[in-house]
Amino acid sequence: MNAQKTAMTTEVPPPIAMLQLISGFWISRCIYIAAKLGIPDLVKDASKTAEELATATSTHAPSLFRVLRALASVGIFSHQNDGRFGLTPLSDTLRSDISGSLRAFAMTELGEEHYPAWGGLLHSVRTGDIAFDHAFGEPVWEFFAKNPENAKIFNDAMSGMTAQANEALHAVYDFDGINTLVDVGGGHGGLITSILKRNPSLRGILFDSPEVIEGAKTLLEGSGVSDRCELLGGDFFQSVPEGGDAIIMKWIIHDWNDEQSVTILKNCHRALPENGKLILVEAVVPSGSEPHFSKFIDLNMLVRTGGRERTEAEFRKLYEAAGFRLTRVVPTESPFSVIEGARV
Ligand code: SAH
Repeated sequence: MNAQKTAMTTEVPPPIAMLQLISGFWISRCIYIAAKLGIPDLVKDASKTAEELATATSTHAPSLFRVLRALASVGIFSHQNDGRFGLTPLSDTLRSDISGSLRAFAMTELGEEHYPAWGGLLHSVRTGDIAFDHAFGEPVWEFFAKNPENAKIFNDAMSGMTAQANEALHAVYDFDGINTLVDVGGGHGGLITSILKRNPSLRGILFDSPEVIEGAKTLLEGSGVSDRCELLGGDFFQSVPEGGDAIIMKWIIHDWNDEQSVTILKNCHRALPENGKLILVEAVVPSGSEPHFSKFIDLNMLVRTGGRERTEAEFRKLYEAAGFRLTRVVPTESPFSVIEGARV
């Protein structure tokens, strides 16, 4: 698959290939427009003209037409002979009514608060500072606490990505032998509920910031496992809930620098019993130069949170600094791996 990808980019002369890469940013911004305006939802049952879509979204029809025509040229919509735009397998991923929807991810990553953060990439490269904080005057988590609409899109984005990763995780990893699993920074609970559904004797604790936990309540109530899942709000820099024999954290440690990560991991260590297990679900950066999602998500962390993606050796070091021994890394079909640790 990688060989194929390389062949695709080397098939054209380098200036053309480079122009395609440069204009990738334009495509991303157009995807944001389609996601934000909910165009895939509007064309899911029947194709529509740009005029019809502009009326439905209160936008300028000729300009919307140009965005949709450009998106259709790269396979994101179909552009039919009668001028109507329709869904393709790519735009289908941006519908809001599907499990694992990428709509909120496209919105949060390409338009709302992450876009100005990426605008400051040069600032981060020059100074090592967090571009988000430079652009907004505060860290992203404080910004979310004050801006619930942005926070909702971000939390929906995480839920969508988690739904994408759940199946890949269950295919390679089972939670046998665990009685109570604590999902630290579990967002709206997409991961813990999917684990509880597959493991009927397991109990769960979902832990996140109080305002995020508030937002998780309704989702959890409809999940069918709420009687086996306790919700707790708090700050993982202070402490994490006790009572579990294992802690899972997905996409948490990559948000933080090494020092902050060790603080969180030490709090996990303190909360776990002697034979407790630590389960991180994170991308592991391969040591070679091959393409990997982690290498760009890493830059997302650079500009947004001050965190980073890590190699296996870097995870091992963090574990050791917090009193854990890295026991195994289990890759999944998704960009995430399971990085398992034992309390020593
Ligand atoms: N594990 C989820 C969410 C990852 S996003 C998933 O993969 O889908 C990171 C999460 O960390 C967010 O839900 C955010 O609210 C939470 N978080 C950030 N700072 C926190 C803190 N100090 N204490 C508890 N949770 C925090």
